[in-house]
Amino acid sequence: MAIAVYPGSFDPVTMGHIDILERTSQVFDKIVVAVVHNVTKEALFTLDERVDLIKKSIQHLPNVEVECFNGLLADFLRARDATVIIRGLRSITDFEYESHMSMMNKSLLPDIDTVFIMSNPCYIFISSSGIKEAALLGGDVSGLVPAAVEKGLQEKLQRYLFKTK
Ligand code: ADP
Repeated sequence: MAIAVYPGSFDPVTMGHIDILERTSQVFDKIVVAVVHNVTKEALFTLDERVDLIKKSIQHLPNVEVECFNGLLADFLRARDATVIIRGLRSITDFEYESHMSMMNKSLLPDIDTVFIMSNPCYIFISSSGIKEAALLGGDVSGLVPAAVEKGLQEKLQRYLFKTK
């Protein structure tokens, strides 16, 4: 059974991420989305909120599971019997960062390979940070994020506006 892990911050999950999952879930028997705490990025949604939003957005993908984890990705992969890491690529900038990460992971876990999936051209401009910025300024992000995320962003915006009144 070919099990893959798709790690990331997913703060929040976007249609770019969902598209990667829709395509890779046809290739692998099981995919585990690993929601990680990225120390270099300030999060809008808690880890539990991010997991919940992904779960609500992948109900049409029965072989995709979601978990959050803190620690070494290598340990997570070993515990799940996974042999592949999935990452998405949008640009040369993504490639530079991702190639270093995949080399690091290869040195930690020689049996694991990273599979890179090019972004669907219609989602190539989408990033979680861009979505947060647009949504919190009142921009319309429908079609760029799943419906559950759109709702979650609206709730965050309401709470933020309430606090600043
Ligand atoms: P991280 O903090 O690990 O970069 P992200 O949630 O930003 O977490 O991204 C997780 C993965 O999804 C990364 O491999 C990233 O390149 C990829 N990704 C992000 N947005 C898109 C998109 N619009 N299309 C394809 N892949 C994407």
